[in-house]
Amino acid sequence: MNQKIQTVMVTGAARGIGQATAVAFAKNNARVVLCDLKADSLEETTQLVKEAGGESLAYGVDVTDRNAMAQMVEDVKKQWGRIDVLVNNAGITADAQLKKMTEEAFDQVIDINLKGVFNCTQAVLPTMLEQNEGVILNASSVVGIYGNFGQTNYAATKWGVIGMTKTWAKELGKNGIRVNAVAPGFIATPMVAQMPENVLDMMKNKSPLNRLGKPEDVANAYVFLASEEAGFITGSVLSVDGGVVL
Ligand code: NAP
Repeated sequence: MNQKIQTVMVTGAARGIGQATAVAFAKNNARVVLCDLKADSLEETTQLVKEAGGESLAYGVDVTDRNAMAQMVEDVKKQWGRIDVLVNNAGITADAQLKKMTEEAFDQVIDINLKGVFNCTQAVLPTMLEQNEGVILNASSVVGIYGNFGQTNYAATKWGVIGMTKTWAKELGKNGIRVNAVAPGFIATPMVAQMPENVLDMMKNKSPLNRLGKPEDVANAYVFLASEEAGFITGSVLSVDGGVVL
């Protein structure tokens, strides 16, 4: 990554891929804005960022709360003046087969994984437009591309994120803003720990690399896509899935 100090905002930064992403950016000379549901849950990430030689600000903000997002952005601008990179990482699952999926489970996943990405990006966009510069990175999934048993709601959001990524890349390129998505495969995080062991073994076996991904595998992809070295990459979906095909 370039040596310019970047300000990077990561949603869902308390654990898993979001935490690894915050730390990876800190190791690459960035200062990091950490956002998760509860400010308390960000203490570990704050400490890890510090150990990596970085600085952070922590906010307890729900990505479904547009007012809280706007306040957070205003505060970050007061403190650090700019936002160079937004990583729309926060996401949840609420799995059930179609015949059993409740409307509530469908709506909840859409609200966080899809509308949450829209909310955060709209909150940060005026700042990036003023700067005439910025990078937006969205968490899609291998499941958004191929679909997955029991994940009607989740697959819909992760495919939707790809649609928003490509649309925003077209709309915002003229403003110096690049927009890309990362599509992880099965990554060993608390989210995936909810899955039955035999399913995880099956996913390992489906990857030619014969393992689950690590949060750092995805974090490194975000760092690359935010870097000057990725300056001609926009509207793309980078698979970080160990070659797994569902
Ligand atoms: P994770 O371990 O469950 O962590 C997600 C984080 O997001 C948690 O800290 C969670 O907070 C937070 N969060 C949930 N709802 C939120 C909200 N409304 N507002 C703010 N923060 C919220 O998940 P992960 O496995 O690291 O996944 C991160 C992203 O990558 C997700 O978008 C996921 O869909 C995507 N992804 C993951 C995998 C994988 O295999 N792990 C594969 C493909 C894509 P709480 O702990 O308080 O709920």
